Amino acid sequence: MPNTLATVNGPVAVDQLGTTLMHEHVFILTPDVQQNYGDSWWNEEERVADAVEKLQALKNAGIDTIVDPTVVGLGRYLPRLQRINKQVDINIVVATGLYTFDEIPHFFHYRGPGALFDGPEPMTQLFIRDITEGIAQTGVKAAFLKGVVEERGLTPDQTRVQSAICETHAQTGVPITVHTNAAAQTGRLALNFYRDHGVDLAKVVIGHAGDSNDLDYLKWIMDQGATIGCDRFGLDVFNPTAERVSTVATLCADGYADRIVISHDASCYIDFFSGEQSQQQLQAAVPNWNYLHIPRDVLPALREAGVTEKQITTMLVDNPRRYFTPAAGA
Ligand SMILES: [Zn+2]
Repeated sequence: MPNTLATVNGPVAVDQLGTTLMHEHVFILTPDVQQNYGDSWWNEEERVADAVEKLQALKNAGIDTIVDPTVVGLGRYLPRLQRINKQVDINIVVATGLYTFDEIPHFFHYRGPGALFDGPEPMTQLFIRDITEGIAQTGVKAAFLKGVVEERGLTPDQTRVQSAICETHAQTGVPITVHTNAAAQTGRLALNFYRDHGVDLAKVVIGHAGDSNDLDYLKWIMDQGATIGCDRFGLDVFNPTAERVSTVATLCADGYADRIVISHDASCYIDFFSGEQSQQQLQAAVPNWNYLHIPRDVLPALREAGVTEKQITTMLVDNPRRYFTPAAGA
């Protein structure tokens, strides 16, 4: 039996994932705001059609799989993703977890170990349910865990989230992607926490590490077996493409290609910039922040910088496959 991985359209053999972008969103939305104010900017039919078109263009550009870390806190909604994915043949791998920079929602605050209503950690129970039974009766299973360690660090609430992530990892073996702040080097906090909690560091991607060009920091992460997410290509405001390329090329030359994944952290629509005017301003500010920047611009630039075809395959195909291959005995 080959190892299979859950995707929106059903299980896919892990060795058939093909060329994979390890951190892309389809939508980033704020459901509370959308439900109350979205009438001025949200058109469901337009957005679905637009997503189908953008994902099809990505598939046509040679990408077989996207790994989508949109969880609660970023507007995860599987029925819409299922509707889109029925119309475009690309693998979409979805996550469970919680996206917050500091506090957890009150939904979780009063329940759990030591809370007003003392009991088992509800986050762990829900994360495990998403992985083993599927998300919200859709039958779609989450295949990895997503959390955040931001500048504010491991606040008490964040510690609860990260503990639930570690516990879920221990029980299910699914890998972890953590959003970190590269300027504050919070990948160090995340990785230390995971090591102390028995996580297999080979199953960890330190997301957004590639916003930094500090080679000591990046190598520190990889030397422990974790993978760095050079996953914001196109977000030039955090780190321009030329510098991202040069950092990846240097690390490849130093023998680290097997611990690097590349992606954009882009989306078809992000409501942080809702409305026609904001979308145009976003386009003007970060014109390359879209799904096609890597196939069109970044891969040629990496080759130009001396990165070999084999190293590119390692980053886009082999590393994602290894990340999603269950550890022996798991
Ligand atoms: Zn993201």
